Amino acid sequence: MENIAESERIIGHYRGKENGPLVVAIGGIHGNEPAGVRALERLFELLEDEPRLNPGFNFKGELLALRGNLAALAAGKRFIDIDLNRIWRQLGDESQPATTSEDLELRELIAAIEIAVEEAPLSELVLLDLHTTTAVGGIFAITGDDAPSLSLAAEMSVPVIKGMLSGLQGTTLHYFRSDHFSTDRSVRAVSFESGHHDDPASIDLALAATINLLRALGCVREEDVSTYHDELLRESAASLPRLTELVYVHHIAHDGSDGFRMAPGFRNFQPIAKGELLGRDKGGNIVAPAAGYLLMPLYQQQGDEGFFIVQDFSFPSAF
Ligand SMILES: [Zn+2]
Repeated sequence: MENIAESERIIGHYRGKENGPLVVAIGGIHGNEPAGVRALERLFELLEDEPRLNPGFNFKGELLALRGNLAALAAGKRFIDIDLNRIWRQLGDESQPATTSEDLELRELIAAIEIAVEEAPLSELVLLDLHTTTAVGGIFAITGDDAPSLSLAAEMSVPVIKGMLSGLQGTTLHYFRSDHFSTDRSVRAVSFESGHHDDPASIDLALAATINLLRALGCVREEDVSTYHDELLRESAASLPRLTELVYVHHIAHDGSDGFRMAPGFRNFQPIAKGELLGRDKGGNIVAPAAGYLLMPLYQQQGDEGFFIVQDFSFPSAF
């Protein structure tokens, strides 16, 4: 077990003695969301101490933790030129000059992941992408709609949102799920939203979710993990719906030209009625086109979506 790399981009690269999954965890894809970066830094401190505190500790597989948007993290902004979590797609001709700050970030991220994929004797590739929101009130995971991805997200003891991939484009999740890496092993990807950008609890919850994911994958053994993290997540999720499905995305112009303003005071998972006033833009009032729970109401300048609406979802019993 050893930490085999560390740099500005790489928070840590931990390789267990036993082969297993390669888990790629990214914090700070959005530069104003440093909680995920802090959480991964703390995880590597814990991993360094663990063999001393718990001589029987064993790690199966590899963990590669990365800082997402370095320039935006330094500036404390969501992005410099363009949202890094909307441009993950085939990079095309490498000889083309990168035109935005985020093009360069994306190339470095993909190169770091590709090297790890090529070197690892991986049984499976798993992405965890850590985020926070501008709204308060609620943690949740986003993943693909296939059963293996949904069950992995559910094992993290957090609310799961289904159907988000059809409402967005060019996210880390899309990229990982589209066979871009040189592995024939299965690939799963989960994004986790751990709370408000500036709430210190968002760091604890992101750390707890990462540890729960490692446990769900069998990278760390149940008996080696403190139940504190699991309890923290269960407590934070206690009053939230377990599984919901995206029914509406309110897209906005990312240069701010439509003058979108979210009405104040909305929280993640706040129940809303059809026709309820949610905000305004230069066209006038914006009302909810459907009833449900509000998700990620936008209370910052930069963003491509004003809000999301999700509804309760139950699997047919055959699931
Ligand atoms: Zn984010």
